[in-house]
Order: sequence, then C-alpha cells, then structure tokens
Amino acid sequence: MIQSSATLAPAPTSRAARVAPVVRHAVRTGALGAEHPVAGFVDVEGVRESVADLQAAFDAAASGAAPGVLHTFAAKAASLIPVLRLLADSGMGCEVASPGELRIALDAGFAPSAIVFDSPAKTRDELRQALALGVAVNADSFSELRRVDELRPEGCASVLGLRVNPQVGTGSIGAMSTATATSKFGVPLRDPGARERVVRAFAERPWLTRLHAHVGSQGCPIELIAAGIAETYRLAEEINATLGVRQVTSIDIGGGLPVNFDGDEVRPTFAEYARALREAVPGLFDGSYALVTEFGRSLLAKNGFIAALVEYTKDAGGRRVAITHAGAQVATRTVLMPDAWPLRVGAFDADGLPKDAPVLPQDVAGPCCFAGDVVAHARELPELEEGDIVVLYDTGAYYFSTPWAYNSLPYPAVHGYTVSGGGEVRLAPVRPAQTLDEIAAASGLAHAGALTGLLAPA
Ligand SMILES: *Cc1c(COP(=O)(O)O)cnc(C)c1O
Repeated sequence: MIQSSATLAPAPTSRAARVAPVVRHAVRTGALGAEHPVAGFVDVEGVRESVADLQAAFDAAASGAAPGVLHTFAAKAASLIPVLRLLADSGMGCEVASPGELRIALDAGFAPSAIVFDSPAKTRDELRQALALGVAVNADSFSELRRVDELRPEGCASVLGLRVNPQVGTGSIGAMSTATATSKFGVPLRDPGARERVVRAFAERPWLTRLHAHVGSQGCPIELIAAGIAETYRLAEEINATLGVRQVTSIDIGGGLPVNFDGDEVRPTFAEYARALREAVPGLFDGSYALVTEFGRSLLAKNGFIAALVEYTKDAGGRRVAITHAGAQVATRTVLMPDAWPLRVGAFDADGLPKDAPVLPQDVAGPCCFAGDVVAHARELPELEEGDIVVLYDTGAYYFSTPWAYNSLPYPAVHGYTVSGGGEVRLAPVRPAQTLDEIAAASGLAHAGALTGLLAPA
C-alpha cells in the first residue's frame, strides 16, 4: 500500500514517477507549506495521455467504417475551467448537468455543439437556454420531453435524446449505481409498458434522435456496464425497426468506467472497456450509430493528487494519529464512506522527499471538527512527524475539485504541472485557494445584520 520507497520508483516518464518531483518542487517554492497547508495538483501530460488512450481505444474498436465519436468529459468530475480548457484542446466535448457546469464549459471554450446537457432536474429556463444555444439535451423523463415539446424553438440545432435506465443491476456501491430498478435516472426500461411508451415517444417526435444511458459507476464491473449499453442498443434497433426509418442516429453510452484506487497501474483500461463493449454489442462499432461518451473519473482520477502538511501527531488509545490539513473538506467520500473509497497515502518529509522512517500503523486525519474526519485508518506508513507531507493519490476527479465547505474551511489551491525528461518541474495556477474574505462573503457578510434587524421594532 505504500509507495514512498525509492527502490519502488517506476520509470521516470510514468505518471506515478512525476508525483515525487512535484511534491519536492511545491515544498521548495512554498506552493505547499505553512502558508498553503493543502493543495491539489493536476498532471497535465497525464490528462493528455488519458484522452489519447480513450480516443485510441474507440478508434481500435471501430471496424471499417468508423462511427463518429464525440468523447465528452463529465464536468462534475473536475469542474475547473483550465482543466476543461485542456480537455477541449485535446479534442474533447463536455457533459454538463447544471447551469454552473454549462457556464464553465462555455467559459472553457467548448462549442455548444460539443456540449451535452444531462440532469434529472432541468428547469424550463435551463432547457430554453440550452435549446437556444444548440447544446445537446438528453431528457431524463417523459415529463421533460413534454417540456421540450413546448420549448423547442423553430430550427433548433440541439441534438435531442432520451435517457433510459436499462435496470441491469447494482455494483458494489449502492450510491454509485445508476442502473438499479429504482434509480432516479432515466426511463426505467423494464417497468411494465415502458418500452412501448419509449417507442411511442420517438414515433411522436421525429426530432428525437438519440438514446442515452449512463450505467455505472465506481464499483460496477465492466460486464454490467456493457450489458446496460447492449440493452440500450437493442432498444435503438427496435425503435428504428418499428418506425421503419433510422430515426435514432446516435447513442450516448455515458461514462461510469470504474478506477482502481489500489495501485499506480490503470485498471480497467479504456482499451479493455472498448473490447468488452465490442464483444457485448458488436453493432455499436459498425458505423450505423454515431457515439457519444461521457467519462469523468476514469479520465482524471489518476491524473491528480492532494498534498497536505502534517500539523501535529499524537497517540490516542495506542494508535498514532497524524493530524493533517486534508480531511473531509477535500476527500469527502473517503471520509464518509471509508470502505467504499479507500485512498493510497504517500509519506514525504519536510523537504518534500519520500519519507525514510520505520513503518507503523497510523491514522491519517484531517482538520475538520468531527471525530470521523480520517482519510486512512491504521495505515502502515513511515512514521509521520510535524512538518511532513502526506499525499493522497488518485484524487484528480471528485476530490479537490469538489470541496465541501464544512468548518468554513477554504477550498484549496489547485496547480497544474509538467515534469520534463530532465526532471524540471513547472507549475501553473488552476485555482487560487479561497480567501477569508471570500469565505465571509459566501457566508452572508453582506447581510450580517439582517436577522437582528428583523427583531428590531419596525
Ligand atoms: C457523473 C456522470 C458521468 C461521469 O461518470 P464517471 O463515473 O465519472 O465516468 C457521465 N454521465 C452522467 C450522466 C453522469 O451523471
């Protein structure tokens, strides 16, 4: 579980080998230290490598007439404009699920035609805006389709789809499983009469041309995800056969590929996933449907890490505890569901060098004021001391980019990095840490006297 030993150092060009020089550099330059006790880091080359892996995997799976594939990135997995810009520059589109995500996708430079809007709770105003822009919209329900009927402008450029839930089952994390019988997402295909209603909905709407399913995510085996997509493909074929025209022209297969949090290697790979898909649904790659993907975690998780200062250590009930600045505010899922979301932890010394000390079991705790704010329990690590640095690996998606405002803790700074062949590290700012003024403003500073004012005599 520990990867701080120099003897285990992988090849210098690998993603994993880039972490240590960046920690060292961040400590030397003060990006990490007393003034900045926690920060997030994004591996810029790593992101580009992951995008290339994804593109290559789908290209390789396509036989002869390659289908058009729009790979979109699920913005919620790393909702940071410079990261989205990097992805746009790598040829990706963007999947958004809120007005905020749509706004940052546009700010990042994605063309509206490369944006897909999914959300189970789209308001009329949000739909109106997306349809006016020409952003693709996947309706989550028949009720939403009826709103689109009303709101769709003349000559609307948006590709319009319907999200279905193939109800293929649950992975190992219930809260992460989108294709259960009672999931809140999409039209449940196995409910009585649902398939017929879907076919009718398409028959009544010649502009409805896409089927969408997002089956996953973390904890779901790829065979389960592939089974869900196979079911969606069969439905597309059924709709087109029943209508006698190929009205469904594209299938959005969502994201949801799980990530291994227990090692540096990537498991499963995009290539393995594309092969599993091809086996389960050969027709998907024969060019008869354009494809859309919406990967998030699998593109970014391994391309980011959190580094945090050890502020104190103590012994409690025979357990060594390191109190660090990375807790539930940046690793919310890991702290609240430690069994479902374990993270690897690395130990570095105050100079940012891999820690060389006897190993003992330690709790790696955070700064939040609740007892469960622990990111790793009884973890075997080189003995940590005040001033050391801990690294939480594989946290490029849904961690530092999705902070929790508990204890009025600031969201941390995020830096992007590259490491040259000669080992030279370059950092670029992605997001500054939240300031105390910003925390005060977000905490109602402008209305400080509003409640006492209500009590004052009129
Ligand atoms: C969250 C989400 C994704 C991305 O999921 P990952 O597990 O991060 O790949 C894609 N599509 C939809 C509709 C989502 O809600």
